[in-house]
Amino acid sequence: MMTRPDALRERIHTLARQEYPMLEALYRDLHAHPELSGHEKATASRIGEELRRSGLTVHTGIGGHGVVGVLANGQGPTVMIRSDMDALPVTERTGLPYASTVSVSVETRAVKVGVMHACGHDLHMAIMVGAVRLLSALSDTWSGTLLAVGQPSEETGSGARAMVADGIFTRFPGPDYALALHVDPNIPAGKIGYRPGIISAGSTSLDVTVRGIGGHAAHPHQSIDPVVTAARTILALQTIVSREIDPREMAVLTVGAVHGGTKHNAIPDEVVLRVNIRYNSDATRDRMLASIGRMVRGIALSAGVPDDLMPLIRRPGDATPPMENDPVLTERVRSILISVLGEENVILIPQLTGSEDFSVFGNGTPRVPICYMRLGAADPRELEGSAKEGRDLPYLHSSRFAPPPDPTIRIGAIAMAAAVAGLLSR
Ligand code: ZN
Ligand code: ZN
Repeated sequence: MMTRPDALRERIHTLARQEYPMLEALYRDLHAHPELSGHEKATASRIGEELRRSGLTVHTGIGGHGVVGVLANGQGPTVMIRSDMDALPVTERTGLPYASTVSVSVETRAVKVGVMHACGHDLHMAIMVGAVRLLSALSDTWSGTLLAVGQPSEETGSGARAMVADGIFTRFPGPDYALALHVDPNIPAGKIGYRPGIISAGSTSLDVTVRGIGGHAAHPHQSIDPVVTAARTILALQTIVSREIDPREMAVLTVGAVHGGTKHNAIPDEVVLRVNIRYNSDATRDRMLASIGRMVRGIALSAGVPDDLMPLIRRPGDATPPMENDPVLTERVRSILISVLGEENVILIPQLTGSEDFSVFGNGTPRVPICYMRLGAADPRELEGSAKEGRDLPYLHSSRFAPPPDPTIRIGAIAMAAAVAGLLSR
């Protein structure tokens, strides 16, 4: 049966309004019960249950707590939609009635830390369930296969890779297209941001152990102080982006943590620096890694560190490749979104310096065309007010991140469902 574009728009908006109370309830429940990366057990089982209820065949335990739901609806291509499921070790300070009070013990910290959906993955899950429910109701308008994927461990950059390694592309219908969205507090709720080509950066983390010879604070001449060597290293690393990378290239280097020493009057044996770099190309990444290696070693040499105590550089966890949206797919999705949301609500956004391991789903063999979008998640009046005052609203990962659930969830579900129905249009 053919559905005219404005008839479909009417139907999808009406259905989304009907589904909304259930989706907000799901969101509140997920928000109140966050789980850290790799521990998304209850979350995954809830998402599996919701997908099953919407008529999907559900498979669990894919690459850890990953969930894959399949809805076969006749001949045609396969479209994958993905939501991440993990939360962050952040103590919530939003004051919301459904704020998380969950806290857990973390290996690296002495005290318990709070757990919070501070990156909005709770919204993404409610949106994915909403899109699936809309697509079930609209099954007469599309033909093909829908793959709804709940991904664990996005925040550690390892979940997508684990799902691919566990056969997401071989055990289930291989997707012809893959779509994802992420809430964005810099975009007014009700709007969607798109960008063809590179949309977010690649990311690599390094642990740099600067070593020296510890001793008494009053006898520095009898030691080689790794605190001073580390301090010089931190400042030197900041010249990599400013002096060594082509200014037209995107590059960021952050030393996010410095760990060393125990008390005022003792020089420690070592200091660990946790370094993170962001880039758009392998060439920039390789240049940055080579420069870090050279500087770290060179500064240790200049401090008189002996050969057997040269700094150690380790790469904990996985790197995330830059994310490149397929231009043809992105253009198709953009025109579908304009037909349901209106031209003024579909906006071109600048490239993001953040990273996202959804890129992994697009970089395999064969290459799956991906389209990753940003979903407005700020109260438009608050956003305008904060811009006037020259301050930012709480961003992703903030303990005060509190986006308005409506229209964020509703518009996200409409956008995702419309994109799938449009790509699989009868
Ligand atoms: Zn995040
Ligand atoms: Zn996120």
